[in-house]
Amino acid sequence: MNLRRLRLKAGIRKLVRENWVRKEDLIAPLFIKEGLEGRKEIGSMPGIFQMGEDEILKEVETLLKMGVGAVILFGIPQLKDSVGSDALNEDGLIARSVRQIKKRFGDEVVVITDLCFCEYTDHGHCGILNPRLKSVDNSATLKISQKQAIIHAQAGADIIAPSGMMDGIVKSLREALDAHGFDYLPIMSYSTKFASAFYGPFRDAAESAPVTGEAIPTDRKSYQMDIANGREGILESLIDEAEGADILMVKPALAFLDVVKSIRERTLKPLAVYNVSGEYAMVKGAAERGWLNYHQIVLEILTSFKRAGADLIITYHAKDIAPIL
Ligand SMILES: [Zn+2]
Repeated sequence: MNLRRLRLKAGIRKLVRENWVRKEDLIAPLFIKEGLEGRKEIGSMPGIFQMGEDEILKEVETLLKMGVGAVILFGIPQLKDSVGSDALNEDGLIARSVRQIKKRFGDEVVVITDLCFCEYTDHGHCGILNPRLKSVDNSATLKISQKQAIIHAQAGADIIAPSGMMDGIVKSLREALDAHGFDYLPIMSYSTKFASAFYGPFRDAAESAPVTGEAIPTDRKSYQMDIANGREGILESLIDEAEGADILMVKPALAFLDVVKSIRERTLKPLAVYNVSGEYAMVKGAAERGWLNYHQIVLEILTSFKRAGADLIITYHAKDIAPIL
């Protein structure tokens, strides 16, 4: 016997265990829907809900009791238009929600705001469209993103998380935040974000699927990354780090662990993964049919993120898994 000597007893296995998932690693995504009373389950994500503005406070309280101290907010406003006006309104849905949560829970909870426009635009894309390019206009979107970031910061967000994959977004947000006295506010960039089919259920949840129409691109492949590109994935994160990102991210997580590991080897910054809606739906769907053991599978998946080098895990499983950690 050689390596098995350390596997024979549970106590020894625990001692030599290399990676642990902790409650402190988890970030729970929350969907706030304007005008909704109570909560509404998302069909393709059993156990995950769109929530009204009052309901969000209850949910944060539940998460805190379980030991999950960080949330990332997604808003589903009633007003959707071509430039995402609700995101630029200092009394818009997300700004109001951040203020409410911070007023009630203060620094007990870390409130991260997703910064993008796809939930706020009527065309469902992550910024202002440029009909000539048949894509999102980079510089026009940077400008409104700066405005959105200031609104989040003024509302009391603890971390700003740009997710639209615009070139130069981190630098541009850093400049805007610094100029408005928010130089202390960290940016968690969705630095390496692939154009993945695993986002399917999220678009039901956030009501943000791109619509079809003339001069409207049918997908997000002109700004999110090609799923086949590992080297480019590393480059994206390194560029964001150089622009001043405080936390880097790979999204989705499970099918891109090679990229997580490669980025881990090249940066000393904290690295997050986003365990996305499709990854959640696959596991949840199979578990509901009794095809696999839900808690064991989730723990194995979350541990694989840590093993690959992730520090933070954004996951819809947060509430289910926290009690057994
Ligand atoms: Zn977006």
